[in-house]
Amino acid sequence: MEKQHLDNLRHSCAHLLAAAVMELWPDTKRTIGPSIEDGFYYDFDFGAVKVSEADFPAIEEKMHELVKTWKTFERSEVTKQEALSAYKDNEYKKELIEEFSGENATLTFYQSGTYSDLCRGGHSPHPNNDLKHFKLLSVAGAYWRGSEKNKMLTRIYGTCFPTRKELDAYLEAQEEAKKRDHRKLGKELELFLVSQSVGAGFPLYMPKGFIVKRELERWIMDEKESRGYQFVWTPHVAKSDLYKQSGHWQKYDAMMSPMKIDEDDYVVKPMNCPHHFQIYSERPRSYRELPLRIAENATVYRFEKAGEVNGLLRVRSLTQDDSHIFVRHSQIAEEIDRILDLAMYVYKTFGFSDFKARISVRDTKNPDKYMGDPKNWDLAERALIDAVTKRGMPNFVGEGEAAFYGPKIDIVVKDALGREWQLTTCQLDFVQPENFHLRYIDEEGKEQSPAVLHVAILGSVDRFMAILIEQYKGAFPLWLAPVQTVLIPIAERHNEAVFSVLAKLKAMGIRAEADTRSQPMQAKIRDHTLQKVPYLAIIGDTEVSGNTVSIRSRHGENLKDIRLDDFFAKLKTEIETKAIS
Ligand SMILES: [Zn+2]
Ligand SMILES: [Zn+2]
Repeated sequence: MEKQHLDNLRHSCAHLLAAAVMELWPDTKRTIGPSIEDGFYYDFDFGAVKVSEADFPAIEEKMHELVKTWKTFERSEVTKQEALSAYKDNEYKKELIEEFSGENATLTFYQSGTYSDLCRGGHSPHPNNDLKHFKLLSVAGAYWRGSEKNKMLTRIYGTCFPTRKELDAYLEAQEEAKKRDHRKLGKELELFLVSQSVGAGFPLYMPKGFIVKRELERWIMDEKESRGYQFVWTPHVAKSDLYKQSGHWQKYDAMMSPMKIDEDDYVVKPMNCPHHFQIYSERPRSYRELPLRIAENATVYRFEKAGEVNGLLRVRSLTQDDSHIFVRHSQIAEEIDRILDLAMYVYKTFGFSDFKARISVRDTKNPDKYMGDPKNWDLAERALIDAVTKRGMPNFVGEGEAAFYGPKIDIVVKDALGREWQLTTCQLDFVQPENFHLRYIDEEGKEQSPAVLHVAILGSVDRFMAILIEQYKGAFPLWLAPVQTVLIPIAERHNEAVFSVLAKLKAMGIRAEADTRSQPMQAKIRDHTLQKVPYLAIIGDTEVSGNTVSIRSRHGENLKDIRLDDFFAKLKTEIETKAIS
């Protein structure tokens, strides 16, 4: 279905919702009901009445009943006075009417059945035929016109589709997303917590979550090191002047407020670029040193609105796998190719096979908007597009989307639920090297200015973790699993054998535990399976005498009497190959 038709259908459904609400609670004050990305909402002032999700069945029933009488949306033009008198006690609609009529526009009402509402139009032509497959989804508080200064209204969200099949598929996907919600799994699996005492948007990693984060970070560091990146560490706080020089102070609205140290203003860092530039310009650089790749897994701090922070997806303290690559202009193409190589390798490792590149280039009609030599821009844009097309990567070129300081590539990845996430970014920059007077000496002894590539492969490690938790439903591949295997004795007399195997696993660097609690074996199996432990190794009389274990996977597969050496080898191979199970 065409987007406009779907929007019309959903907005019509918002009318229907309001009609049902007015029948059930006639004193309600209606406000607005637009269609949105996945459905629609309507904001109501219910006065003293408290409406919740428990009321949805009654509202939906009323909607189904009313829609039978809705043959069409009848348009009528009204004067401002007529409009105002239709909403005598509704200050919200009155505010809207004052605004609309002030623009000299025609005020219109749309009537279906006995229900009419102030509206600009855009409806389904035959509501009694088209409006059948809808569902109310949730209730939330929402300020009138989005301002905290105004009254808090009750927003009811719903969705509507042309067919039952599409509605069911949507609801099913929603259910699946709820089960995978990283905030829910993060709590159940003891990965991270958000403590109100610490603050919204500042998540704390618990021991198990930190293992996953540490493994991810170690791995990406190792991969970068083997590709010639050099790691550094820089402090979390710097003088505000540093960011004035970089231009962030003036332009970047996610800066935190400054604090005083000695006589100077300091700020927690929102990004690492100017720190890495200090390292670059610590001494004169020769062309022989380029490309110079400075990397850091660094925690940076950015202001996000309290209402917008979300688990690990959107935080105020995020760890980036950041790097700044200093290159000669002639090296840009090759370096981009190397970056894409690493990004592809990373995605493959996690089983992401559906991705595309967004290339942001200049607006050719406004060449003056951009800083730096147009010749360099031409080269750089060509290099980005070539690097992506050479690989046969699906891509699209966003003309006019480049920042004033350089073009960039973003890679958008689709997860197990078909949702898209922007992960890798690779931003070319011709301007910062000038702001910080970065130079190198070329073959002829002349001073030249390098270009800088700002690159993050995982992006925010926190956000990447949130995506992985949802992608794997908490069942991490063995190499990332916080507890890789749990040993379970069948009876107490097998404890000694269990501890001996445990010692061997630990010596191999496997994250293993023994569960010798005095509980039935089935209860233990259930507990650890819920915790998504990849392998449980069960040891009883047969296993002790044969030097074997019986393995049970978190997916319920059983392998009886596996030789200990084979079990060890299996774990080792799976970890080394980063197998996805
Ligand atoms: Zn309407
Ligand atoms: Zn940067």
